[in-house]
Amino acid sequence: MKIDFSPPFINDKVKEEVLKSLDSGWITTGPQVRKLEEQIKEATDAPEVVCVNSWTSGAILVLKWLGVGEGDEVIIPAYTYAATAMSVIHAGARPIMVDVGEDFNIAIENIEKAITPRTKAIIPVDFAGWPCDYDGINDLVSKKRELFVPQGEVQEKLGRILVVADAAHSIGAMYKGKSTGVLTDITIFSLHAVKNVTTAEGGAICLNLPEPFNNDELYRTLRCYSLNGQTKDALAKSKAGSWKYDIIYPGLKINLPDVLAAIGVGQMEVYLDDILPKRKEIFEQYNSFFEEKDWAIEPHFRTDDQQSSCHLYPLRIKGATEEQRDLIIQGVGERGVAVNVHFQPLPRLSLFKQMGYQEEAYPMAMQMYTNEISLPIYPQLSQEHIAYIVKVVSETVENVLK
Ligand SMILES: *Cc1c(COP(=O)(O)O)cnc(C)c1O
Repeated sequence: MKIDFSPPFINDKVKEEVLKSLDSGWITTGPQVRKLEEQIKEATDAPEVVCVNSWTSGAILVLKWLGVGEGDEVIIPAYTYAATAMSVIHAGARPIMVDVGEDFNIAIENIEKAITPRTKAIIPVDFAGWPCDYDGINDLVSKKRELFVPQGEVQEKLGRILVVADAAHSIGAMYKGKSTGVLTDITIFSLHAVKNVTTAEGGAICLNLPEPFNNDELYRTLRCYSLNGQTKDALAKSKAGSWKYDIIYPGLKINLPDVLAAIGVGQMEVYLDDILPKRKEIFEQYNSFFEEKDWAIEPHFRTDDQQSSCHLYPLRIKGATEEQRDLIIQGVGERGVAVNVHFQPLPRLSLFKQMGYQEEAYPMAMQMYTNEISLPIYPQLSQEHIAYIVKVVSETVENVLK
């Protein structure tokens, strides 16, 4: 049997939406993007949603709008994908990496220690789809108001550190009865090909800023900013007699095309009612199987306050060294099951080493990484696949550990 790690979910509805876009005479940003934004608003209760062409570009856009730059700091976890740090670098600020807790998510006491008068934003990551403790993070930024040194109009208006959730994994996750999207100021979903909902490449920025911000107005600002700062998008300009436009911001060119948004429109139709419940079912099946194994540490699934979106199944092998973990991955791969490691802590990667980050400063991230293996989890997996995966994984682990 051969089992891929994370193939995209493509059904007839998805194909139909893409064809509709191709046949419509309009393939870049237009009605399909707006429809996807509306679907995400409905699914999350976010006051406004702006789609762009990736999580990364969306985060750069938000940090630029906030006005961060040289000398500013943005706090991120060391345990994440490189894009979290890259967005900060491209906005001109310095990523301040902090260590995580035993749920893989950024530890609030470490955020607290890292806050300085230069801190402009915090980007917590909902690792694997497990929501961070947003009450704790939001309370912390309120508590640290005194320390905040605003520069420019947006920062003056906010008067505190901005929280931008890296929810690349967590569309559909819940925290204290609310969906990711409304748990903090701004939440960004990734719609990359391997994520729970995809447009091949894409990102969705949920706007949930407090008064006196106006999220509708901010939608228009960010939309314009995502299109070179041009006052009219190409669709508006294509109407007879409306050729004239102005450029009002030093914008980026990061808009999502309709033909890609169409994939997401088809997926969102079935995400909450079909795709997400299937992911949860598989997660629970894995958990009940691995609970019986004394070498397994199962990932977080649900508490009274939190419910995962089950993007990844990050299994940990108790006591396994990095070498043994790599042998397990090799052995499992030889029997046709593609697994993965999420993530190499950022200080392990060359760029960040050159920038001066050191692995030793992140003992928890290093420990979590050493024995982590992400198993396949997606709705196309059959019962037969799952039975095969757990069999191959446990046989290989027991063979390597013996
Ligand atoms: C995938 C991912 C991103 C980047 O998303 P893109 O849409 O590819 O830019 C950012 N953060 C995390 C945690 C991710 O897994």
